[in-house]
Amino acid sequence: MTRTLDICNNFYKTKKISYEDFKFLMELTDFSELNKFARDLTIKSFGNKIYIRGLVEISTYCKNNCYYCGLRNANKNMTRMRLTKEEILKRVEAASLLGIKTIVLQGGEDDFYSIDYLLDILKSIKSNYDMAVTLSLGERNFDDLEKLKEFGANRFLLRHETYDEEHYYKIHPFEMSFSNRIETLYKLKELGYQTGCGMMIGSPYQKLINLYEDLNLILKLKPQMVGLGPFIPHHDTPFRDFPHGKISDVLKILSIVRIANEKVLLPATTALGSIDSEGREKGILAGCNVLMPNIGDEKLRQKYRLYDNKIGTEVENSDDFLNLNEKLKKIGYEISLDRGDYKGDGRYV
Ligand code: SF4
Repeated sequence: MTRTLDICNNFYKTKKISYEDFKFLMELTDFSELNKFARDLTIKSFGNKIYIRGLVEISTYCKNNCYYCGLRNANKNMTRMRLTKEEILKRVEAASLLGIKTIVLQGGEDDFYSIDYLLDILKSIKSNYDMAVTLSLGERNFDDLEKLKEFGANRFLLRHETYDEEHYYKIHPFEMSFSNRIETLYKLKELGYQTGCGMMIGSPYQKLINLYEDLNLILKLKPQMVGLGPFIPHHDTPFRDFPHGKISDVLKILSIVRIANEKVLLPATTALGSIDSEGREKGILAGCNVLMPNIGDEKLRQKYRLYDNKIGTEVENSDDFLNLNEKLKKIGYEISLDRGDYKGDGRYV
């Protein structure tokens, strides 16, 4: 048995990995064995099905100033937009016509969305659609999180970005709070959300030990989802001159996270596709089992009218839904339109 397989087997069985072994995996030049080990675990749990989450970006306003993010408040070159309840519902409708059963409402931390407004939106979605709702709206106070859960929000994505406090404040301003971010993640779990954490790979000042700490958070928190992707510089941020994260590092970490939890929901992110034209396919072959295409209702509705059985094929930026399935078929996978809820006992429906 190779050392790679030995480490993978041992980690899979014990859910413990030393920093030396983690480093060994992360320094592999040929990491196909690592990817295959993870891929086999994904197939064992999910078959060759890839869950689809319809992503609706509701706001590009944000009160925060994360140094890596183009939506940061200090970026005056950003064209801001936010969706009203009606506009959001139109996109939910478009997703529903496609048969998508999970909608992800994502946005910056935008106070326009008061708790009452969000509850109103949630109530409309829940009463009109059989749709799981994932929120990805940054940190909110615990009372809000509780109310949103009561009104039917099922899942919450909150990337921790780094589990090292020192590193956290190198990529976020001091007005933000590392401890609040981590406490919120634990609170979300306590409230019964299917909770997602996640981090950027290759972010400025990140050391390998930081990724090991991230992995240990994942082992401790036991999130139901992990969203991770490469750091990609944005030209209107203080980190404009830093290089983007390496796809090889992302693919290794994805596999390691899959071995940490064979049941976890692991998206092949758009960011992965942005640094490599086949990045998402490579992500799936490294153990991912979720895709989160954007829902663009204009094109969706147009397509819906033109092609009866190809309803709303435009879902992912300008890609179309069928193309997406074709791409997946080429690597031996296919779209699953199941809700893909995480079940405590490890089952998914
Ligand atoms: S909170 Fe999110 S949207 Fe806002 S600046 Fe930070 S990363 Fe960007």
